[in-house]
Amino acid sequence: MIAFAAVCDAVAATPATLLKIERLAGYLRSLGRDDLNAASRFLGGDPLGASDARRLAIGGRTLLNAAHRVWAFDDESLSTAYRATGDLGEALARLFREPAAPALFAETLTPASLAAILDEIASVGGAAAGKKRAYACERILRACHTERETAYAVKILTGDLRIGLREGFVLAAIAAAFGRDAAAVRRAAMAAGDIGAVVLAAREGTLERIELRFGSPIGFMLASPMAFESSYRELDGATWIADDKYDGIRAQAHKRGTEVRLFSRTFSDIGRTFPEIVSALARQAADFILDGEIVARRDGRSLPFRYLQPRLQRNDPSAGMQDEIPAAFVAFDAIALGREFLVDRTLAERRSLLAAQLAPGGAFELAPAFALEANATPELVRELFAAARERGNEGLMLKRADAPYVPGRRGKWWLKLKRELSTLDCVVVAVESGHGKRANVLSDYTFAVRASAERDELLTIGKAYTGLTDAEIATMTEWFLEHRIGGGRRTFAVEPAIVVEIAFDIIQKSSLHPSGYALRFPRIVRLRPDKRVDEIDTLDDVERIYREMLEREGVER
Ligand code: AMP
Repeated sequence: MIAFAAVCDAVAATPATLLKIERLAGYLRSLGRDDLNAASRFLGGDPLGASDARRLAIGGRTLLNAAHRVWAFDDESLSTAYRATGDLGEALARLFREPAAPALFAETLTPASLAAILDEIASVGGAAAGKKRAYACERILRACHTERETAYAVKILTGDLRIGLREGFVLAAIAAAFGRDAAAVRRAAMAAGDIGAVVLAAREGTLERIELRFGSPIGFMLASPMAFESSYRELDGATWIADDKYDGIRAQAHKRGTEVRLFSRTFSDIGRTFPEIVSALARQAADFILDGEIVARRDGRSLPFRYLQPRLQRNDPSAGMQDEIPAAFVAFDAIALGREFLVDRTLAERRSLLAAQLAPGGAFELAPAFALEANATPELVRELFAAARERGNEGLMLKRADAPYVPGRRGKWWLKLKRELSTLDCVVVAVESGHGKRANVLSDYTFAVRASAERDELLTIGKAYTGLTDAEIATMTEWFLEHRIGGGRRTFAVEPAIVVEIAFDIIQKSSLHPSGYALRFPRIVRLRPDKRVDEIDTLDDVERIYREMLEREGVER
């Protein structure tokens, strides 16, 4: 793993994309089969392979306890190291010590041997799992012989390399390493859902033989916000399709034969939460992978997201609960139909295939699409928006008719339009106990945005008492205690994993927080377990809202 760490450091230090790719390609070419498979998965951020449903589930606590046993440091040094680096891998690397007496049978880590240990960790369940994980973490840390190796072993265990390497770069490096077409590599990666399988196929020249893997979720395509009540110039010069923006849970539905699986945005399988949707989908003749939204429905209208919330906490809901809060899957895109992978077709084609091959009924609906010819007027957009609100939906999604399906990307192909001053999706980075009746729970959260889509550095932007329920606060308190990373009795840093949606009155420039901005009257609207940390808002989003706010103030003055 020493070579792996050196390449990662070199990539992190290189701002130029092409150089990053070249360095990575050279490294990948130098590896044998098993190391190549493992190292590519590590670089792609999915140590087990993204299509693997098992999870490593290693909490920061487990890792810290193991590190304590190996290097015996005090809490103060850990806090200092963590504060200085903001990353568990970098912090533990600073605490790394060479053993006083070299062990007789010191283990050495290679990508393949590390992958084998991780595979073992993921395979044990039940009562033995905790002990096994603790032992495996200790074994891995003992096998690290340098600081940098330690940093990367920990980053792999916690699931984030943080070297500004998006999956796209790794795929480009695979293409460059083995002289393959970059588009063919990207397509194979989407279909296989496992970068390890792709890199081996690229090496052997068998990319076109990779088949679509049913049941392994594919990244969701995302939308960029569009300013409400503007002149909508972004729409000029192209044909768009307008969908209602449903206020529910994004889901990807896979069906093959009679088997149906439903995945949330975090790739959790949520089929058991919505059995009526699963059976409605199972009745379809065609096989598919569909993109859509699960919404609460009553009398043909959508209900706001909060109606769905009680359903989310329940697997196998009773018939009574299903009647009380009926849910439906509204499909608005097709990623695959039959055996055909549709990501390279245009949205207009995908929508007509969807309408032609599927028969909606029961808890399965097809989203109505409204075509907007080039140069749509703001009046038309306003009318469509009002009609969507009339149907109980949140706003509008405007999608270019000629857009491919671009997994995992937030781009300008899809634009979202909603009324409120946007809220911000942030990640909790530190917590503190409250006052009065909240003195025994962690109810004050400090939260951060990402530096940019490419840079996953977290920048604090504010602090708020939670607007969560007592039950939610209690559950979160337990989670934060298990995932604390800093010292301090009342206030401490936590693993950045919990996403919260923050509402506020205004954004101000401020030197109080590293983001350079502060929010006035921030409040936590809700937990967003459906969003991953790499999907939270960025400093660019903050700046955009700030600018929009100034413009609006200018108009009002
Ligand atoms: P937001 O959560 O406000 O950032 O908006 C993005 C979300 O809108 C997506 O993740 C989807 O869950 C949701 N959404 C609702 N309706 C649609 C639609 N017709 N097309 C795409 N996404 C939609």
